Amino acid sequence: MVIKGNLYRVLLILIFCLLFSLEAADLLLPNFFHSIKMTSYLTIAIYIVAIFTLFLLTKEFDYKADELHKSQQKMKNIFDTLDVAIWSHDLKTDTLLITPGIEKLYGFKLEAFYENTDLWKEVIYPEDLYVLEERAKKIAMGENVTSQYRIVRPDGEVRWIQDSGIPTFDSKGEFVDFSSVLFDITDRKESEGLYQSLVEMSPDIIAVVYDGKIEYINEAGCKLIGAENQEQLIGQSAKNFVAPQITDLIKNKVFSPNKAENERYNFEFQVRRINGESIDVEMAARSILYVGRFAIQVVGRDITQRKKSEQTIKFMAYFDSLTGLPNRNQFRNHLNEVLHQQKNNMHAVIFLDLDRFKIINDTKGHSVGDIILQRVADRLETAVQNDGLVSRQGGDEFIIVLEDVDKENASLVAKRILNEFSNPIEVNNEEFYVTPSIGISIYPTDGSDEETLIKNADTAMYQAKERGKNNYQFYSNNLYGISTWKMKLENWLRRAMEQNQMTLHYQPQIDLNSGKIVGVEALIRWYHPEYGYIAPSEFIPLAEETGLIVPLGKWILREACEQRKAWKDAGFSDFPIAVNVSVRQFQDEQIIPFISDLLEEVGLETNYLELEITESLMQNLENSTIILNQLKSLGVLLSVDDFGTGYSSLSYLKHLPIDKIKIDKSFVDDIIYHSNQGMMVKTIIDMGVNLKFTVIAEGIETEEQVKFLTENACQIGQGHYYSKPLSADKLEKFLNEDKDHTPS
Ligand code: C2E
Ligand code: MG
Ligand code: MG
Repeated sequence: MVIKGNLYRVLLILIFCLLFSLEAADLLLPNFFHSIKMTSYLTIAIYIVAIFTLFLLTKEFDYKADELHKSQQKMKNIFDTLDVAIWSHDLKTDTLLITPGIEKLYGFKLEAFYENTDLWKEVIYPEDLYVLEERAKKIAMGENVTSQYRIVRPDGEVRWIQDSGIPTFDSKGEFVDFSSVLFDITDRKESEGLYQSLVEMSPDIIAVVYDGKIEYINEAGCKLIGAENQEQLIGQSAKNFVAPQITDLIKNKVFSPNKAENERYNFEFQVRRINGESIDVEMAARSILYVGRFAIQVVGRDITQRKKSEQTIKFMAYFDSLTGLPNRNQFRNHLNEVLHQQKNNMHAVIFLDLDRFKIINDTKGHSVGDIILQRVADRLETAVQNDGLVSRQGGDEFIIVLEDVDKENASLVAKRILNEFSNPIEVNNEEFYVTPSIGISIYPTDGSDEETLIKNADTAMYQAKERGKNNYQFYSNNLYGISTWKMKLENWLRRAMEQNQMTLHYQPQIDLNSGKIVGVEALIRWYHPEYGYIAPSEFIPLAEETGLIVPLGKWILREACEQRKAWKDAGFSDFPIAVNVSVRQFQDEQIIPFISDLLEEVGLETNYLELEITESLMQNLENSTIILNQLKSLGVLLSVDDFGTGYSSLSYLKHLPIDKIKIDKSFVDDIIYHSNQGMMVKTIIDMGVNLKFTVIAEGIETEEQVKFLTENACQIGQGHYYSKPLSADKLEKFLNEDKDHTPS
């Protein structure tokens, strides 16, 4: 349309020009035109065309003015909606033009700005007034300048304004015009501010890396790396702090052509701090547009503590915290792995228990016990070397798996272990002789699964203990026979009491200073008509296991009390009779009334009965305290048998109504046989006396032991040195002959 309209106009002008030139020619060459009689027609045509052209031109002007108005209106509308104001000052004519948009920005009427041309300055937020100085300087130099400042509107609202000033100078260098475009940028500023404070204040590390260099890092990031401020890090290569493989990996992932929009990737890696230490971090990375370029944004945190805790938990799950050795869990996993190998090799399981460790722990305290266990762990590892895995099962029990070994190699390792323990362990300038008892089971001969192998190594370890400790024993198939033997024994035991096969023997207890008899211990004897003598150590555990100890124990108590009553009646009045009572007997709720009724029935004063309990009763301290207090309130005496082999500690005992402790024979043996020369006995006596217990030494066989014991203030002794356990008749004779038993 426009092209067509223009064409018409050009055509008309051309026609007009043609006619006009013809008219001019008519003036110059009238004869020629007159001759063809065209003059008047030409003039008329010229006028018509001129009028028409003028008409068209007027129309065109009207149209242009209308268009201009419309576009101005359109612009005005746009400016009005845009939160924009334009300030234009023609300095030559001093004409100021301000668009009405300023009202929306500043909250003042347009006229107010015309009336006071400094109003825009006066409403600037005081803290931002500083921008004006620099702005004025730049404008004076003819530079365009964009400033951002806050204004306070009449209603008190604070808005952010972006003000772009454009000065114009003429060719003479005179300042002729100044325009300024003003925007309300409050929303952007607020979200920017919010974002910035979130980033700055974030406890997480936030950083932007472009082209391998740190472009931005927040305060948390600085702290993490150990920098004092951001300037110290900005511009530095990320590779200064993170391994190049990691930075490359992140870059490749984040800029991978296959990645989805806004996809972020999580990484865990180590950051090297400025001071050289390494910390663990977890980071999410993604690409962002930063200052117009695609950069990597990372957000993450320090997880060193979490990693450490994870490691500790893992360690605790699989390692023994005291010795650092693999624990039961790891041992079982390892053993299973070894057993599931598709090889037909032999393996060995070594079960190891420390002899007399408990007593060291109880007398010297757990801290010494702990150090000893750590040293034991070291020694075991030295002995086993790379032949197997040493684990601690708990307490003083260790299990070792030897992979691909036959019996011969296993016994070599066992010997190496025993050899490692030939020297004492020194703790706080004190020497401790700790020896192991070792039981060994071999895969596949002694079992094909973990349970059986451990159980059989354990059984073999007990054999080693029975054979005098500090030695090793292989599990033997003969032990299979045990169960048949046990069944036979159980049957015999059930009938033994009815058939009067049981008797009590009595072993005197001697005052080590005066040599006088101060007590007797009743010990059961079983003579089986076919089998012969069966030792208490063989049938008492079975009686306990089967519960037969309850009726048997009652019989023993009655027998002992009656015997004691008889001796009392015979004139032997000044010592108690000690009766061994198993833990199992205390599970019978009737035990206390039974004892009380029995003493009454027999007519024996309660202080004539002494009950020997074992430390295993103390395992349940709460329960044993109740029982022992009840017994004590009956008036009977209480002693702890085999002290040092069980679970109690002297410190527990002091809270219990105990009268005596009996030092186990194994410690008394140490006086002469062991290189520590009775150190344990001495310690027990010292502590026992301190806690006001009477201390009895069991199993005295030599004069040397008696000497040692008396020198170390042990009060009472019992053992073959004085007398073996005797039948009632024989003991009566012994009583009659009661003489000075002090060593000559
Ligand atoms: P125990 O109560 O510690 O008894 C001491 C054991 O050491 C007794 O063994 C005794 O004969 C033995 N003995 C004493 N002096 C010496 C010595 O100088 N050298 C040696 N080599 N041994 C000595 P026995 O009678 O075989 O009893 C073993 C264990 O059986 C007892 O240890 C006790 O725990 C248990 N027992 C014995 N009789 C009874 C009983 O009537 N009831 C209960 N519940 N257990 C009993
Ligand atoms: Mg005893
Ligand atoms: Mg004993």
